[in-house]
Amino acid sequence: MFIDEITMTEFTEGLKHTRTIIIPYGTVEEHGSHLPLGTDTIIPVEILKAVAKRRKVFIAPPIHYGVCTSTREHPGTITITAETLRRLTMDIIRDAYKKGLRNFILLSGHGGGLHLNALKEVGEILIEELEEIKIAVICPYSMLWDELCEIAETENDSHAGEIETSLILAIRPELVKGRAPKEYPSFPKPFIVKEKLKYWSGGVWGDPSKASKDKGLRVINLAVEKLLQILEEVEK
Ligand SMILES: [Zn+2]
Repeated sequence: MFIDEITMTEFTEGLKHTRTIIIPYGTVEEHGSHLPLGTDTIIPVEILKAVAKRRKVFIAPPIHYGVCTSTREHPGTITITAETLRRLTMDIIRDAYKKGLRNFILLSGHGGGLHLNALKEVGEILIEELEEIKIAVICPYSMLWDELCEIAETENDSHAGEIETSLILAIRPELVKGRAPKEYPSFPKPFIVKEKLKYWSGGVWGDPSKASKDKGLRVINLAVEKLLQILEEVEK
């Protein structure tokens, strides 16, 4: 049940079946010269379309903006601060709680550390504040780490690399504009540098040339099954 497509009557009826809502999170962020800026939003929303066909669960409209750090300087990336993400998420969950929802699954298509930590921090605060809630912060890439290591031919595959390119090939092939060359960032660890482009000009982490539609479809299926498992658990 995509809540932006149902009526208030259907919402009330839906609460008789489930108290769970999944909130998808994405970014407006460079994904190499070959993938769309909305890659991190497109992927979780597509996974949730498949989940919605299999199980009655509330699904919120996506939060299109996220916290980007390493890609902050690249053309097209439009980031928000962790504070904004925390406040927005807290407002949404507190009000959804008032409307009867109790289980909150935050599904992030973006794997950035600061971004995920902001969501986890909200979870820690609200679990103390709101009675009887369950809250989970999930990123498909960490959730399926072992499986993805088997599917990907590229070692250390990440941002705009083999897996993300495969996913967009499976979901919206018309949005894939060729393939950016294989690349890895060379940030001078442990420093936080201002000139991100100097150390990561192409904005790709991995080898997009190894991507295929078939790999993307396999990842989507795995993510859908895993989410269905988690929903089963949360509503036990
Ligand atoms: Zn991404």
